[in-house]
Amino acid sequence: MQANRTRLSGWGRYPVCDCEVYRPEKLSELRSVVTGDGQRLIARGAGRAYGDAALNAENRVVDVERMNRMLGFDADSAVLRCEAGVTIAEILDVFLPRGFFPPVTPGTRYVTLGGSIAADVHGKNHHRDSSLASHVLWFDLMLASGEVKRCSREENADLFWATVGAMGLTGVIIELEIRLRRIASAYLEGEIIRAGNVDEAFAQFEATDSRYDYSVAWIDCLSRRGALGRSVLSVGNFAPLEALPAKLRQAPFRPSPPSRLSVPFDLPGFVLAPASVRAFNAAYYLRHPSAARVITPYEPFFYPLDSIDNWNRIYGKRGFVQYQCVWPLEQSREGLVEVLEAIAKSGRGSFLAVLKKFGAQEGMLSFPMPGYTLALDFPMSGGLPEFLDRLDQMVVKRGGRVYLAKDARLAPETLPAMYPNLGGWRQIKASADPNNRFSSSLSRRLRMEPA
Ligand SMILES: Cc1cc2nc3c(=O)[nH]c(=O)nc-3n(C[C@H](O)[C@H](O)[C@H](O)COP(=O)(O)OP(=O)(O)OC[C@H]3O[C@@H](n4cnc5c(N)ncnc54)[C@H](O)[C@@H]3O)c2cc1C
Repeated sequence: MQANRTRLSGWGRYPVCDCEVYRPEKLSELRSVVTGDGQRLIARGAGRAYGDAALNAENRVVDVERMNRMLGFDADSAVLRCEAGVTIAEILDVFLPRGFFPPVTPGTRYVTLGGSIAADVHGKNHHRDSSLASHVLWFDLMLASGEVKRCSREENADLFWATVGAMGLTGVIIELEIRLRRIASAYLEGEIIRAGNVDEAFAQFEATDSRYDYSVAWIDCLSRRGALGRSVLSVGNFAPLEALPAKLRQAPFRPSPPSRLSVPFDLPGFVLAPASVRAFNAAYYLRHPSAARVITPYEPFFYPLDSIDNWNRIYGKRGFVQYQCVWPLEQSREGLVEVLEAIAKSGRGSFLAVLKKFGAQEGMLSFPMPGYTLALDFPMSGGLPEFLDRLDQMVVKRGGRVYLAKDARLAPETLPAMYPNLGGWRQIKASADPNNRFSSSLSRRLRMEPA
């Protein structure tokens, strides 16, 4: 197969590097690239990981987006069989009108299932339904030898748990079965709850936890003192038909799409000046008063940024880093306060940050753990790496970790403390991929590979 030398980045547009990109469409083409001449390679889906997980500087990237056939669907069990290049957007196009929804979805629908399993993505329902791996029945993994192994909880279970969350480093996921969720409408019935500070936000998460499948809070990370962590919680369940107004009940799976906007070019730096960000965050908070019952179409609820094309240009040419961390439950409040105070003091904060609660989790390198997670964007600028190193130390001393799918700069020394299963994972990686063929810019930066 022919490769194209291409300049690539993740969604954060930092870092950028040259890679040899292959775009197989058939299994035989993929196998010839994988078993080729022993060069290092990494799979790439839709390129929505923010940092360098789907990059391979001066090495091979296998873009599997063209391997995206849907292969079968059983409406009784809601089980879809498909290739790993199928995106959440494609699942929504085909199955939403029939009353099915992805069991777990990240905050953008423009991701492949292969990339989502490799990151073991979480959604707004993690506190109830865990991460994507919990809903995957099996996947077929192509190893460096070209052999395909079926991996599930029963078959090659060690490889299954070493692959979910391991960012493509055990092989290429080519096909899978996933159980979709049955829904009665494409609308969410829920509440908007304003929380004046961190303690109110935690109290609201705990109070609404058992009533709602989906919850998320938008935090103003630049507010300080008594208003530190003020936020707007959005919680909801898929609405039953009887909850919808008569007009919506006639076409419950066809909400009108949100209007599309676009960021046509890289925005200049002043847009992100602390004063503008502070003003935007304050306005957002004030414009969202509490509301006891709201009906929201699924798109603005799950994918608020998908209606703004190229929104990653907001952060300008130098790109940005999304910092996402999680703390164990008992450390979450103190951890969040410490990190928010450091951010507010530094004036580096981004537009709205996101706070979510996580529940139970499996997977050797999966990011979630029972506790709270914070995600926020920082434009790339002088001093940012050092500032984020300080945040890492705050997170790790409380038993927390950062998310590899968002990472572009973590130091290798910090990784083992954040991911205590790394040693056990390396043993499985060593037997599945003895010559470390599956390797990426991220894995080399973090020295993840077995010696
Ligand atoms: C706006 C936005 C919102 C997001 N919200 C969330 C969120 O709420 N929750 C969350 O968990 N994540 C979230 N993410 C991150 C995103 O879901 C993950 O990075 C996901 O991995 C992206 O999938 P992709 O197809 O773009 O994969 P890529 O970015 O192309 O690749 C990601 C990783 O998957 C590996 N990979 C890709 N395809 C395969 C394959 N077939 N076999 C083996 N490995 C493979 C790559 O090697 C790489 O390590 C968000 C990202 C964006 C841009």
